Amino acid sequence: MDRDVLIVGGGTIGLSIGFELVRRGTPVTIFEKDEAGRGTSYQAAGMLAPDAEIEFEERELYDFNRESLRRWPDFADRVEAASGQSVDYRDEGTLIVADDRDAAEALERLYEFQRDQGLDVEWLTGEEAREIEPFVAPSLAAAVFAPSDHQVDNRRLVAALKTAFKAEGGTLYEETPVEAVVPDGEAPAVRTADGERIEGTRVVVAAGVWSRELDGLTPDATPPVRPVKGQSLQLRSKRPFDLQHVIRGPEAYLAPKSDGRIVMGATSEEMGFDTTVTAGGLYDLLEGGWEVVPGIRDLPVDETWAGLRPASRDHAPLL
Ligand SMILES: Cc1cc2nc3c(=O)[nH]c(=O)nc-3n(C[C@H](O)[C@H](O)[C@H](O)COP(=O)(O)OP(=O)(O)OC[C@H]3O[C@@H](n4cnc5c(N)ncnc54)[C@H](O)[C@@H]3O)c2cc1C
Repeated sequence: MDRDVLIVGGGTIGLSIGFELVRRGTPVTIFEKDEAGRGTSYQAAGMLAPDAEIEFEERELYDFNRESLRRWPDFADRVEAASGQSVDYRDEGTLIVADDRDAAEALERLYEFQRDQGLDVEWLTGEEAREIEPFVAPSLAAAVFAPSDHQVDNRRLVAALKTAFKAEGGTLYEETPVEAVVPDGEAPAVRTADGERIEGTRVVVAAGVWSRELDGLTPDATPPVRPVKGQSLQLRSKRPFDLQHVIRGPEAYLAPKSDGRIVMGATSEEMGFDTTVTAGGLYDLLEGGWEVVPGIRDLPVDETWAGLRPASRDHAPLL
């Protein structure tokens, strides 16, 4: 039997690598311990926001993120063409808002840094912000508009990637946990939980926050990844409420999707693998969201969850 590239993990990362390889003619098998696309990738908000998320002292990472975003529209087109499904790619931009004077001063420091770095951002009064997005609070102190930030519907994306990967000829085994990686020079392999050993040409570890748990990884191939818990909730848009932009307030963000979902997140907690949704976590998000977009008060809440971000020490991707 011809050997495949073996990928451990069927999230955004494993499915994207698999999809790009199979469409170039490389045979790929993905092993997923649960249902593909139901890990962290399902629990995210789908923001592609290098401008809003730039941090002081992270210029190099910013350039990487911007280059990644530059390639996104073509990637989304390829996934949509191969799957016949929409990933809801949206380019309205991010509105970063400050609800009081304190927050406005912090925002001004960020804005000055963004401007110094040559980013495409615009300083707005609260009133100007409401012209762009009528659903932000009338009392906003100030805002920064980042029109070059984009977003995708992460849930639709993983569903489309799964279809696209299989349509291009990839093999996906779900409910198939990999227990160990066997990094054996000529014939690297994986060992599944039921003891089967499958040899490949290469093994790609894309098991997200669980990547360190695989047996057999050499110390230098063990990614320094740790879980950072993020509680979130989903609101359902209801007319006349119709948010168009991603809104980032000091305590919460709102990411509206075209099917009426509004993802509101997220806490940031160092709690190991705990995924308990807490009253305090939801309270903080609801209060933070309501302060910047008061109209959410009347919207139905149709889901709450806690996901685990695969975090690196310096926020850079682990390749
Ligand atoms: C609340 C929250 C909000 C976020 N918002 C954003 C955002 O707005 N924008 C953004 O870019 N990122 C965001 N992220 C981060 C983003 O979700 C992750 O970086 C991304 O989903 C990671 O994809 P992945 O494929 O590495 O991980 P996952 O989607 O977790 O995929 C890994 C897969 O590996 C499988 N697996 C694990 N171990 C094994 C094994 N032994 N054998 C077989 N399979 C295994 C898992 O079941 C899982 O399906 C957010 C994260 C959270 C938690």
